[in-house]
Amino acid sequence: MIAARAFEGRCVAVFGLARTGLGAVHALKSGGATVIAWDDNSAARDLGSQAGAEIKPWREWWWEEIEALILSPGVPLTHPKPHEVVEHARAAKVPVIGDVDLFAREIRPDPEKPGRAPLIAITGTNGKSTTTALIGHVLNACGFDAQVGGNIGKSVLELGTPGPRTIYVLEMSSFQIDLAPGLMPDIGVLSNLTPDHIDRHGTMDNYAAIKARLMRQTARDGQVIIGVDDTYTSSIFTSLAASGGAAAWPVSVGKVLGRGVFVVDGVLYDAEGPRAVPVMEMKDAPRRPGAHNWQNAALAYAAVKPYVRDPRAIAAAIASFPGLAHRMELVGALGKVQFINDSKATNADATARALAVYPDIFWIAGGKPKEGGIESLAAFFPRVRKAYLIGEAAHQFARTLDGKAMYEMSNTLDVALEHATHEAQASSAPAPVVLLSPACASYDQFKDFEQRGDAFRQLVARLPLSMRAAS
Ligand code: ADP
Repeated sequence: MIAARAFEGRCVAVFGLARTGLGAVHALKSGGATVIAWDDNSAARDLGSQAGAEIKPWREWWWEEIEALILSPGVPLTHPKPHEVVEHARAAKVPVIGDVDLFAREIRPDPEKPGRAPLIAITGTNGKSTTTALIGHVLNACGFDAQVGGNIGKSVLELGTPGPRTIYVLEMSSFQIDLAPGLMPDIGVLSNLTPDHIDRHGTMDNYAAIKARLMRQTARDGQVIIGVDDTYTSSIFTSLAASGGAAAWPVSVGKVLGRGVFVVDGVLYDAEGPRAVPVMEMKDAPRRPGAHNWQNAALAYAAVKPYVRDPRAIAAAIASFPGLAHRMELVGALGKVQFINDSKATNADATARALAVYPDIFWIAGGKPKEGGIESLAAFFPRVRKAYLIGEAAHQFARTLDGKAMYEMSNTLDVALEHATHEAQASSAPAPVVLLSPACASYDQFKDFEQRGDAFRQLVARLPLSMRAAS
């Protein structure tokens, strides 16, 4: 754990006592601060109290005594409107920050203590977790102590204190960026930008501006690595390249770049010098199929290059990455049918990546719908042998599919899986997949995407028995 000493002997307020809030309480207490805290949930309050915070309803806080408000990234800072506690903090001129900003204060460059651990920060709409985990995997495989956290796994303040081989690798959501004005990465990575979470950011331009801000916060002697395959990120790249800040490196899948890292025809090229040098064939990483995973691999390659000089070592480590659960994860097979858990695909763009990979798809989709639904996926409908629709989005998705692909209203995951399995087995397709890639949030029927994916995995594990019983 990292002790937050920046507020030693002073009072800090923590609002929201989930994972990051609790991490902040522990870190602040061990750094010698007084902490007052609140959470609307009484179980969370108990945990905060056990961690050493004084629990007090926020309306009773004495703002004159408070040096900073640590806000949970789940609490609205700006949209749809700031939470009242934020408005009170602003009126009292108390800075509103998150746990990542506390972390940044502890590992900030210190002329008295040279040799600070480097920090890589990753953001974007899709691919953040995969790219973050992949960078951590490559660094560890190449002899570093990668401390991976933030929006994935551990909260930043739960990470280890820096040793001589430590590199911090942080996944950053836009909410965390908003609350971390003091974070200065050595390497900033931006994967791609498509509309998501617009409800929490107002407009796409505002959402893109938040992601761009993290790139602008990158140290001047550092590097920003930008996927340039969509219009938003490519214009961010252009403005960063012209800004005189950190050196900007483009990454593309499909475009040959004069300078940068790119994947063309399944080969990853490094064009740092005058000639593009082939580094690896992406078929050597078969467990992570699809062009989107090539993008993640290319971003990771570019991000670790300043630390790992041997491109062959990076390529070998990328090839050995097992991937993350719930992202196009193969969770079972029954005869010729493969079962793919892509529960993390909570928006149409993420689902498009999975639909692009498989030719004969028995597609389980639906949940809590996002703006735009699945209209943008129409080009993939010919690959869909049949869709099995679940959750709140079922009727909306049915209207989009009508006349373009077969579908049924399965309503629940268990029914969808049973029907999809029968029909995939009976189909003429040589290698059908039953794909859970919902293009929706999970909150209507599940706690989160992990619970939805775990339910799918368990249902698949029980399938052979129930299928035999049915036949
Ligand atoms: P994030 O942390 O940004 O949500 P993940 O790595 O968890 O990203 O992947 C989320 C979903 O997006 C998965 O369904 C995955 O298949 C898809 N995905 C992964 N990488 C990319 C990418 N580079 N571009 C588009 N979609 C991606």
